[in-house]
Amino acid sequence: MSYRASDGTRQWDGSKQVPEERMAVKMQSFARTGITPDIAGADLSYALKLQYARWKAKGLESTIEIVPYGERKPQMPTRGFHWTDEKYSHERRVDVGKKTQKYFKDGVCIHTREKIVTIYAIVTNTTAENSVVENDYYCCPSCGASSKIKELMTGCPYCQTKFRMPDLFPKVTNFYFYEQDSSQPKFLPIAVTIGSVVALLYIVAFGILRHDSSGFLIILSAILLGVFAGFLGTNLFCLGYMIHKAAQGIGEIRGSKKAERKIEKRMKAIDRTFSYKFFEGQLISFLKMILFTDDVKNLVCFEGTSVPEKYRDLVDIGYQGAVTLKDIEMTEDVVKLNMSVLLCNTYFVNNKIKVKKEEIMLQVAKKASVPTDAGLSIKKVECKNCGGSFDGSHQRICPFCHTVYDMKEEGWVITKIGE
Ligand SMILES: [Zn+2]
Ligand SMILES: [Zn+2]
Repeated sequence: MSYRASDGTRQWDGSKQVPEERMAVKMQSFARTGITPDIAGADLSYALKLQYARWKAKGLESTIEIVPYGERKPQMPTRGFHWTDEKYSHERRVDVGKKTQKYFKDGVCIHTREKIVTIYAIVTNTTAENSVVENDYYCCPSCGASSKIKELMTGCPYCQTKFRMPDLFPKVTNFYFYEQDSSQPKFLPIAVTIGSVVALLYIVAFGILRHDSSGFLIILSAILLGVFAGFLGTNLFCLGYMIHKAAQGIGEIRGSKKAERKIEKRMKAIDRTFSYKFFEGQLISFLKMILFTDDVKNLVCFEGTSVPEKYRDLVDIGYQGAVTLKDIEMTEDVVKLNMSVLLCNTYFVNNKIKVKKEEIMLQVAKKASVPTDAGLSIKKVECKNCGGSFDGSHQRICPFCHTVYDMKEEGWVITKIGE
């Protein structure tokens, strides 16, 4: 867990025991080198690799610095942040940090963005018997190639490193930041106003009591005192509010709690193991892959025809935690959700970085009668027809029997992306 250094500042714990903090540490070297964090799951690693490749293709370099924010780690609520399926347990872990991201073109810094962010990590662990999960795929922590867990335990087929279960878990299956909207604490002017009004009332009452209206200096200093008290109160309140918000989950604040409840209620009726937080995390991961890849036609998690041209200039996707559910369609055995997602997107256009808040319309689909397979990785999918496995991030047709792989059969896919 994060600790106090000798200079009094809070520092990240870089160990695997605190996965969200290890990710925060490792993301900094990732930005510089493109080496994805060892604790990241296969799909998350892949999405990050694609993002790094996009920077390279644009001739951009980036640095990320994430430092802990606040005196201590925010308290994690016990309800709703933890869920399990038959093989894995998942947890959404939260912290608050100050993230500074810089972009460089030809060695010159062209953009700096410094924000207080809520850090979210979906952490997946397993306490299941080895035999239950050994056929699931896992990204080798040492070379990055995807193999079955049982293969990694006898020695990775690519780099020969041997792993034990505790080396492989926990892993971070999703990691994202939610930028604290700097305009969010709207209480500042309100608090100042209240402070001033209180001060004024006090002066008026004081003046009436003493039948004295000449104390101009007293009035002025009282007003200043009121304003100061307002500021002080607001600052304390804002920090508390931010940490409280981080702990509560952004959805609750931003009104997407409603979408979450709606989706969860409808989906739970169809699939008992459905978890919104897992779904949400996967959705962001897939969206990143789709918008960062240059080969969308061969990506199994996307079944749409095309993505809008402008996303070719995208260099970062910030999830804002706000999802709105438009409607749910059910055709034969396929359930389709039409929704919109609020993103804070960073583009590189005409040698300039532009940050825009945008709403993206999405349609996602899944075969309704099949429970989501939390062990599924698009880096290694299994052909339903012949059982052969292949990399679903580069091909959708089985190389062995030429059957088209349909990921809807096992999990969610994105079927439409629009504006
Ligand atoms: Zn390996
Ligand atoms: Zn096949």
